[in-house]
Amino acid sequence: MKVRFLGTGTSMGVPLIGCRCKVCTSKDFRDKRLRSSILIEHRGKNILVDASSDFRLQALIYRINKIDAIFITHPHADHVFGLDDTRIFYLRQKKPMEIWGSEFTISNIKKLFFYAFEGKRDERLVKPSFNLNLIERQINLFGLRVTPVKAIHGDMPVTGFRFNNFGYITDFNFIEDREIKKFRGVKTLVVGALRYSPSISHLTIDRAVEFVRRIKPKMAYFTHFSHEILHSQLEKELPEGIKPAFDGLEIEVY
Ligand SMILES: [Zn+2]
Ligand SMILES: [Zn+2]
Ligand SMILES: [Zn+2]
Repeated sequence: MKVRFLGTGTSMGVPLIGCRCKVCTSKDFRDKRLRSSILIEHRGKNILVDASSDFRLQALIYRINKIDAIFITHPHADHVFGLDDTRIFYLRQKKPMEIWGSEFTISNIKKLFFYAFEGKRDERLVKPSFNLNLIERQINLFGLRVTPVKAIHGDMPVTGFRFNNFGYITDFNFIEDREIKKFRGVKTLVVGALRYSPSISHLTIDRAVEFVRRIKPKMAYFTHFSHEILHSQLEKELPEGIKPAFDGLEIEVY
């Protein structure tokens, strides 16, 4: 299966509005970051992990012309605000968007997108159409074993996902040992690593390196970076087997 990084930035994106720091003014395209999300392509199916606030732009840039399933890690704006932009896929595919998430994620999607669930359903109103599916344990979808992995992000529960031997977890600062075990044996792991300086809701670069060492994948990629991270510098600093991801990066995972 193929994994495309549609965005690798933190909630405010990089460059930050109005910031003139060396990362925000960098000429390196790898320092331009839309909000974090990936697209998995597997046996002709397109699986989106998070619908970022930049989803419309990401879909145009990477020519995404269908979506078969969406997995949501948590209901912060940068991970769900793109859900409204999936209306075009609903209109074309004539099926509700199949969305998977925790109970917490599902109940908050219902609040954030209340207009999709309330009032009358009339096709002329062009409301989003979501089919919300609870994922609490491993499911099989399109020939993939999908396992949810629970973690904590400040004061919010988040879900990481394992798709066969590929793991994706971002926006967390704490995870229990029994949840870490669910990632054991993954070949490729993507981890959210915000910046160098401390954060109460995200892993720093150092803590993300420690986390990767506990799981020991063949290859790990960091994502969800703030404007403290200069791509070319982080690339040199990271140990072997860990790379910073960047917008547009496509990897093949088995
Ligand atoms: Zn985020
Ligand atoms: Zn900046
Ligand atoms: Zn978040």
